[in-house]
Amino acid sequence: MKKIMNAIMLSCMNATCLIEKKKLVPISLIKKMQLSMHLSMCDGCDNYQKQSDFIDMLLSKQQENTKMIDTFLLEEKIFKKLNA
Ligand SMILES: [Zn+2]
Repeated sequence: MKKIMNAIMLSCMNATCLIEKKKLVPISLIKKMQLSMHLSMCDGCDNYQKQSDFIDMLLSKQQENTKMIDTFLLEEKIFKKLNA
């Protein structure tokens, strides 16, 4: 019975790896079910997933803000200050 449970249940290390992996590549249905089962029972990994999602959201906002900077305008300002 213990061997079957070990095969079904993910360790916390494997669960957190899957949390990150599923953001980048699709994972199998079995892995999704294992992860879902683990997250329903493990508060630590559930919190990890929430914090990881929050960090990703902040980073994506940061990237959006970075894209809006007009580098040409900045370059002009720098040249004007250099030549002043
Ligand atoms: Zn866990």
